[in-house]
Amino acid sequence: MSRVILRDATVLGRDGAVSGPKTVIVENGLISAVVSGLAADGQHAVGRAAGEPLRPLPGDEVVDCSRLVLSPGLVNLHTHSPMNIFKGIAEDATPDRWFNEEIWPYESKMDGDDVEAGAALAIAEMLDNGVTAYADHYFSAERVCSAVEKSGIRADVAPTLFGMAGDFEGQLARAADLVREWNGRAGRISMRLGPHSPYTCSPEELAECAKAASDLGVGTHIHVEDSEPQIAASVERYGRTPLRVVADAGLTSLPLIIGHGYWIMDEERELLREGNWIAVCMKTYMKLGEGPGRVWRRPDELPLCIGTDGAASSNTLSPLEQARILALMGKYQERDAEAFPLRSAWKTLMRGHDALPFGSGRIEAGAPADLVLWDLRRPNTFPAYDPLAALLYSADASNARHSMVAGRWVKRDGELLLDVEAIVARAGERAAGILRKGKGKTDLAF
Ligand SMILES: [Zn+2]
Repeated sequence: MSRVILRDATVLGRDGAVSGPKTVIVENGLISAVVSGLAADGQHAVGRAAGEPLRPLPGDEVVDCSRLVLSPGLVNLHTHSPMNIFKGIAEDATPDRWFNEEIWPYESKMDGDDVEAGAALAIAEMLDNGVTAYADHYFSAERVCSAVEKSGIRADVAPTLFGMAGDFEGQLARAADLVREWNGRAGRISMRLGPHSPYTCSPEELAECAKAASDLGVGTHIHVEDSEPQIAASVERYGRTPLRVVADAGLTSLPLIIGHGYWIMDEERELLREGNWIAVCMKTYMKLGEGPGRVWRRPDELPLCIGTDGAASSNTLSPLEQARILALMGKYQERDAEAFPLRSAWKTLMRGHDALPFGSGRIEAGAPADLVLWDLRRPNTFPAYDPLAALLYSADASNARHSMVAGRWVKRDGELLLDVEAIVARAGERAAGILRKGKGKTDLAF
């Protein structure tokens, strides 16, 4: 198989350190070597890590990266990709109205084709933004998996289970079948179970999920403490906070992605175990007027990662934007311009790689080639004295010039390698259908 030689890049590591120039060689989906120093030109030996000479061979693709910054791909650790079909449908609504009067009634009439069209649209947007892996949480997850398989992105997909929707046993059995069917597919898909939340699933149902996940050898992904009233409601109903209910059910003993965790209390931090991660989605909390949250004090002691939530609440699927808002809010809340410094925000973004089982997030020999080449020589980011500042505070999708997942280009010269026109046309048809179908009845209640 031919190689891709990324020549003379400035490298931004997962810890925020900038180094280079370096030449990164990609073969068979992996980084096979990282060589420091200028490669004088493509015909000269650039050397393998072990010192063995290497010259571009016929068929090698040599990319001049001397004006680009190379980083690991971005991770979106919490989203509901099919909800891109609802982007902008429920605005200026309280969380109560947003769930009960808008989103859940529309979702009750959603079919598999709507799900796949929304997921495809979301994946296109994420790839455009430099995302190489994401964690999904939605129903009809087989259609999400299908969109992922076709697109080239990596995803960790959690079929969602709702206790209030009835027939929990049946839901769990179908979700387990999906996990067995799709886990590991295409080398890019991993699966876990997705109980919706401790307010829509009972403690017994959560315990059943933990048992099933353990039997399947996977983890879970669940919403916990995205609003303050949920905590009081849980204490009144169960005498325990939502995170304690989740821990008592056994979910924290397995790999766990917590969507939100925004109101986690200091005394709950000890409930978190290794392999538990919190995906914070600041734009959603701000948009739904959720208040200040509790993640600001000693944030480095929390396993914070970045999510976007669904586009129905956050409108964009840009982890960079979410990391930017987290850092800005951290400074604002703490009245401290030194809080949430650049490196800390970047590490929060990169930590999402550790939460997923793909081994990505490193620029070193043997790591999966999930990479983005950023062009910071654009008006919005130049002169980029500090590439990290340019990325976190100035960049957008237009700066993600090339990106690859498992060594395969997914964006090249600023263009997605997808049939974007067809994806948008399909989503347009389904969006028109959603308005025609209107809202249905839902058993769920927020
Ligand atoms: Zn969510």
